[in-house]
Amino acid sequence: MEYILNKAIETHNLTKEEIIILLNSDGQSLFAAADKVRQKYVGNAVHLRGLIEFTNICRCTCKYCGIRVENKEVSRYRMSPEEIISLAKKGSKSGFRTIVLQGGEDAFYTKDIMCNIIKEIKKFDVAVTLSIGERSFEDYKAFKDAGADRYLLRIETTDRSLYKNLHPNMDFDNRLRCLYDLKRLGYETGTGCLIGLPAQTIESLADDILFFKSLDSDMVGVGPFLPHSQTPLKDCQSGSFDLALKVMAITRLLLPDINIPATTAMETISPNGRLIALKSGANVFMPNLSGEEYASKYEIYPEKSGINASKSGIISEIEEKLHCIGREISSNKGFRNLKN
Ligand code: SAM
Repeated sequence: MEYILNKAIETHNLTKEEIIILLNSDGQSLFAAADKVRQKYVGNAVHLRGLIEFTNICRCTCKYCGIRVENKEVSRYRMSPEEIISLAKKGSKSGFRTIVLQGGEDAFYTKDIMCNIIKEIKKFDVAVTLSIGERSFEDYKAFKDAGADRYLLRIETTDRSLYKNLHPNMDFDNRLRCLYDLKRLGYETGTGCLIGLPAQTIESLADDILFFKSLDSDMVGVGPFLPHSQTPLKDCQSGSFDLALKVMAITRLLLPDINIPATTAMETISPNGRLIALKSGANVFMPNLSGEEYASKYEIYPEKSGINASKSGIISEIEEKLHCIGREISSNKGFRNLKN
């Protein structure tokens, strides 16, 4: 263990076998090592990203997801461009330096509509992150030209047969194509995986981590799979918090200078899960700006807890929590490559 952790700290490279040993460990020295590496490379600042979940309409069939197209029980919503821009403006006024636009794959938001939204939001001097799924190279290029800075698209799992099984009518190679296109276009590119999917193995999680490294991902978000009662996986077990924390911590060791969020799913499965994640390698926090009405409808998994950041004074509330663990809110836009 000690040899593997020292090797990771010094070289930021591990073999698949070494990663498996860390994944099977009790995690305590791994978490401490990841915290040290986080401190050395990205410091004590925590970047806040204001999240707007602007549509829960989705054409996808992901078997684990509560807003999948086949779930007829969801009350669907779609924010107007004006509403999205106004929420982003409010977020920027209350101090958020990044706005994340996330949603289902909703054809209403054409290339032109998205470009217009991005251009308007960029006027507020914020970084813009998109997370709207698989699109064409042309769309990604247009969004980039309109001013988008980052893009989040989890690979979900690098195990091709598991991917196929969990994503009927979707194509693993297209998801890879998207990630390579995003990198090529100069986005800060984020990916990640779900932990504890049915039939997922420790070996495949080790492959996921090596994939993050090989892509040179700029952001990696991981979280436990949480079963949703209106999906085909409703009777499956939740993923483990500790295992998700270990995947996250190893990712920090291998990609020391990237941005790693303490995900909401971590908090949902374990009280204070996000603060624990921040002490085990994470340096990003994504409060929800959508407002309670929408947040409750964006139920990708049950009891999706989130800090409701649409209320006033939220930044100082978060600041207080962060101070308790010796951290502070970052004042810059939080790019991996420090371009402010
Ligand atoms: N449509 C976009 C995409 O595909 O990247 C963004 C929205 S999607 C709902 C955001 C993320 O939610 C997915 O990447 C997935 O990992 C996560 N997610 C969906 N269902 C989940 C579940 N039951 N438990 C935990 N995470 C889930």
